[in-house]
Amino acid sequence: MTLVVETPSGYGAERRYVLDVVLGDWLGLEWRLEQADRSDVRIRLDGDENARRVVVPESLFGTRVEDWLAPASLPAAPIARLAVDDPGSTALRPGQPIPVLYGATPPARALVTPDPDGMTLGVDVFGGVFFLLSRYEEAVLVDRDRYGRFPAAASTTGSADLIVTPVADAYVEVLWLAFERLWPRLRRRDRSYEVLLSHDVDDPLAVLGRRPADVARQFAADLVLRRSPGLAGRRAHSLLARRADHRRDPHNTFDLLMRTSERHGLRAAFYFQSHTRTDVASGALYTLGHPWIRELIGRVHERGHEVGYHAGFGTYRDPERTATEFAGLREVAERQGVHQDRWGGRQHYLQWTLSTWRNWEAAGLAYDSTVAYADAVGFRTGTSREFPVFDLAGRRPSTLRERPLQVMDVTLFGYMSLSPDAAFAAVSRIADECRRYRGTLGILWHNDSHLRTVREQRWYAALVERMSSV
Ligand SMILES: [Zn+2]
Repeated sequence: MTLVVETPSGYGAERRYVLDVVLGDWLGLEWRLEQADRSDVRIRLDGDENARRVVVPESLFGTRVEDWLAPASLPAAPIARLAVDDPGSTALRPGQPIPVLYGATPPARALVTPDPDGMTLGVDVFGGVFFLLSRYEEAVLVDRDRYGRFPAAASTTGSADLIVTPVADAYVEVLWLAFERLWPRLRRRDRSYEVLLSHDVDDPLAVLGRRPADVARQFAADLVLRRSPGLAGRRAHSLLARRADHRRDPHNTFDLLMRTSERHGLRAAFYFQSHTRTDVASGALYTLGHPWIRELIGRVHERGHEVGYHAGFGTYRDPERTATEFAGLREVAERQGVHQDRWGGRQHYLQWTLSTWRNWEAAGLAYDSTVAYADAVGFRTGTSREFPVFDLAGRRPSTLRERPLQVMDVTLFGYMSLSPDAAFAAVSRIADECRRYRGTLGILWHNDSHLRTVREQRWYAALVERMSSV
């Protein structure tokens, strides 16, 4: 059962890429492309005696060449929304408003309209998915925060309050709804909901990379500000004990993190920084020369979890440092017995721009998991699914894949200033969306964040339990 996709000419690499992601990678269907002299996209099924077809409007790829990557090609505000009454077997809810980033001209009045020849869609599914996955708007808009990051509010989906909806995943359901009505015997790839917990190791021990005077200041703060003699004792012990006994160091939560994941059958990822010397000002608090760190890397692997690369501050625009740091980590990890087919990781501070993907691909990394917003939880790429990335400037698909990340701990408690209850609710809402679309929930939890007290540790355990329950 092969789908035949007839498209107008132009933007060939971009079209082929998005068709391959949606029809091949995500839906698991056989398809082939045929160029046709027309102004919309038509999909038929090889061997369908009734010769029915799905018409998909052409909008983004109908952009004039001089407007490509220019503001004129961005979705026009306000974003219209359309719903379906009968979602069939798809993940859509009856009446759920689906945003139309790119649509038909004149605008359609329904998402899926039956006609004597088949079905006509009211949304440019392929243009919309391409727009979201390629981070097209980030190549057009210049908004950045002080760390060089694209803010959620600058995004089309952020400003339209769509950030907690995986819009690309919803588009795939709209397309599938039309397919299953026309060709009920067509089968799509089975998927199931998944949780990916990852831990960026920035600050593995409360005594590493600090002068004794800094530790003494934190010790005083434990007693006076945090009113916790226990915390002060653990900090002092980690610094002063003979033969560096870090078992009770307040940042040494690695055993707790691994245990919590293991309880739910999850394989967690621990991403390590890779510096040859420490530099407190740039957040390089440890080196891979430290025996305790090397031992930790080996222990993570032995327990069946993943070891990955956490790219240093500022490297997101630096292909050489990316390559050197990753090679350094890999060498140390392999000496610790870590052998993995696939290496990936994340940029420190979620510092990321379009050329970062290219640097990671060139360094030989298989996946990145950086592309979430620092200042809001949600779906920056519009999807809960892993996908191969597209190099917008090079106009070619990359060998790198993007692994879903929607939630960072610092976003919840820092940027969004949520209470523990509100944070729990926010993560639960994202988890429910991921579960609905049978996608992947990606969570970043730092080893030194909100795990110091028994109450915080219980909260974290409850959160992982809630995310993992089906
Ligand atoms: Zn970091």
